[in-house]
Amino acid sequence: MPTTTVSNPDTIEQQQQGEAVPQPQTAAAPLPGGSPHVAIAGAGLVGSLLSILLAKRGYKVDVFERRPDMRRETISAGRSINLALSDRGWKALEAAGIADALRPVAIPMKGRMVHNLNGTLDFQPYGTESHQAIYSVSRGGLNMELMNLAESQPNVAYHFNQRCTDVDLDSATLEFYSEDTGEEHTVQAGHIIGADGAFSAVRWKMLKTDRFDYSQDYLNYGYKELHIPPDETGGWRMEKNALHIWPRGNYMLIALPNIDGSFTCTLFFPFEGIPSFDTLRTADDVIEFFNAVFPDAVPLMPTLIEDFFGNPTSSLVTVRCYPWIHGDKVALIGDAAHAIVPFFGQGMNAGFEDARIFAELLADNNDDWAQTLPVYQQQRKPNTDAIAELAVNNFIEMRDLVADPHFILRKKIEKKIHSLYPERYLPLYSMVTFSDKSYFEAWSEGKKQDIFMAELMDYPHLEEVWNTPEFEERIHEFMKRY
Ligand SMILES: Cc1cc2nc3c(=O)[nH]c(=O)nc-3n(C[C@H](O)[C@H](O)[C@H](O)COP(=O)(O)OP(=O)(O)OC[C@H]3O[C@@H](n4cnc5c(N)ncnc54)[C@H](O)[C@@H]3O)c2cc1C
Repeated sequence: MPTTTVSNPDTIEQQQQGEAVPQPQTAAAPLPGGSPHVAIAGAGLVGSLLSILLAKRGYKVDVFERRPDMRRETISAGRSINLALSDRGWKALEAAGIADALRPVAIPMKGRMVHNLNGTLDFQPYGTESHQAIYSVSRGGLNMELMNLAESQPNVAYHFNQRCTDVDLDSATLEFYSEDTGEEHTVQAGHIIGADGAFSAVRWKMLKTDRFDYSQDYLNYGYKELHIPPDETGGWRMEKNALHIWPRGNYMLIALPNIDGSFTCTLFFPFEGIPSFDTLRTADDVIEFFNAVFPDAVPLMPTLIEDFFGNPTSSLVTVRCYPWIHGDKVALIGDAAHAIVPFFGQGMNAGFEDARIFAELLADNNDDWAQTLPVYQQQRKPNTDAIAELAVNNFIEMRDLVADPHFILRKKIEKKIHSLYPERYLPLYSMVTFSDKSYFEAWSEGKKQDIFMAELMDYPHLEEVWNTPEFEERIHEFMKRY
């Protein structure tokens, strides 16, 4: 298939419609119309949000997505992944002026509902304040809303079925393969943003440049989506305003509510060993195992067997790389720059924060990309490294410690310390989830808190005395040297 060079992504559509294609434009200067042109590879959550933020700064933005337009595809109801959106994500959506439009599709989850093996439930609030919550949103639903909001900007255009296959980093030129027609196209932009996810094609090209650091670390765990449908009246079969967890030591099941009354469940489970995906081979294996370890969930999952064998087993990876930029032409953002495991519920939130900060830095630097890009990567990289590490560590907390009485007591004591010293002591989870303190600061503070709490909790009969004036005195003593 011959390669066609076009000067403006609009011409891809013209070409598909058989219209004349303008001559190639070689300069990466602003396109006709005057506004600088940014090409974003990837119309996921982060690429779509960034397109709105850049459009609001006056850029002409073209977003290229390898998949078809998900708004025109049929997605089976209640089967899409859902994500926890927290304060950093909301702050970025507010900066783009779209938070209010998205609130109706977000369900507040005020805490974890821990499902113990004996059938009892323990509710553990997430925040130190009663109004604090994380929000369950459908990834597909949120992505579609972001696309609609982006397309309502006059200077944003989406191009679907366009797979980025190559990038000339120096000239900000992208090559695309059309999944529709099989044709190849070249797009010349002023700047390129690689928002094309954990297996980014833009990053792949950067990998071949000198002194580009890259690592990917897989966990020995995979995940599988399962499903709890709504009840007969369309309501929720479990508490709606909670993130449900069945912590079982080295594995766990979680469930997040959807607005249609269903829950999306995810089993995080070892690939190998006993028990593991490898050992659950037949329907009987699955039923026997689930009845033994998630007995209260089984009656809520009428399609357990179909889901277990029909849905893929996906892997969990942390991707780190550096630099995130190439000259003043190219930058990576979101999972393309830093894919993390999902156990702190921060991958999308971190990507949204990247986008907000990127736009703020452009504003601070009068849209000088040569000034902005180095500051962007220097500012974000330590923070995303920090949340990557916190996310891996939080797996142990979710799958095991949330059911551990010592850990639960620590949480209660930390909440008490926060009530006594609201300005000086904020628990790690709250720093990450309910503040916009940098991830790096939260990570450093969290390390300090671990040492502090280990010492503070080394106290006789703590379970009985932790809420007494005697122990409060110990807290005051300790806080003198915190
Ligand atoms: C099981 C699970 C649970 C999660 N839970 C949470 C959570 O609770 N909270 C949270 O904040 N985060 C969560 N995350 C992380 C979150 O999903 C990601 O961080 C987020 O989707 C990243 O957005 P992105 O736009 O950077 O990348 P993506 O969402 O991956 O989007 C990238 C886009 O680029 C497109 N693309 C890829 N290659 C090309 C190409 N060559 N050319 C053109 N287009 C291309 C893709 O089709 C895709 O549309 C979770 C992730 C998983 C796997």
